[in-house]
Amino acid sequence: MEEEIRKRIVEAGNKLVEKGLTYGSSGNISVRYGDKIFITPSGIPYHKISPDDIVEIDFEGNERGGRASIEAPMHIAIYRGRKNINAIVHFHSPYSMACAASVDEIPVFLDELFSHVGGSLIVAKYGVPGSKKLAENVSSVMKERNAALLRGHGAVCCGKNLEEAMELAEIVERICRVYILASIAGEPKKLPEEGIKYQIKAFKEKQ
Ligand SMILES: [Zn+2]
Repeated sequence: MEEEIRKRIVEAGNKLVEKGLTYGSSGNISVRYGDKIFITPSGIPYHKISPDDIVEIDFEGNERGGRASIEAPMHIAIYRGRKNINAIVHFHSPYSMACAASVDEIPVFLDELFSHVGGSLIVAKYGVPGSKKLAENVSSVMKERNAALLRGHGAVCCGKNLEEAMELAEIVERICRVYILASIAGEPKKLPEEGIKYQIKAFKEKQ
């Protein structure tokens, strides 16, 4: 099973680059398996990562088999706050970064925000990459949401499994793209109250 997880993380990393959701060695991916976390290594471009390069860490951040991504503390903090999620994808994609640099929150202007993110898409307050402050700022938003934008940095999302987290990465990028288009077209309108109530119920049932 652990070998399979390592392989799937490598495949997911290459897919992130292929889909234009990140580049080079930016971003990171992890999967929780029992009391272990498997995470992409620090500073290796995705196309050069092999399953053996995936680093195993515990919830204290102790590493086995290499140097873990600089954002390991953020992954650990998110897992600590969410018992039911087992995969996290952090990425640097253009539309998400544009929104992360310019708004405080993407309001619930589309049904998709509820059904996938769990509400508005919030921009977590700034923290230096790899810092405890960034880990705290992001994990506090992710307690209530499946995705967050990181001020001046990028985006992060989670899922019950890696497939779900990867799918959400694409959805988040698409939501940011549509939000920018909607802002050009006019003023994006928040969903009416009946839509919000319906979507909150549907989202809770899915969790
Ligand atoms: Zn990053």
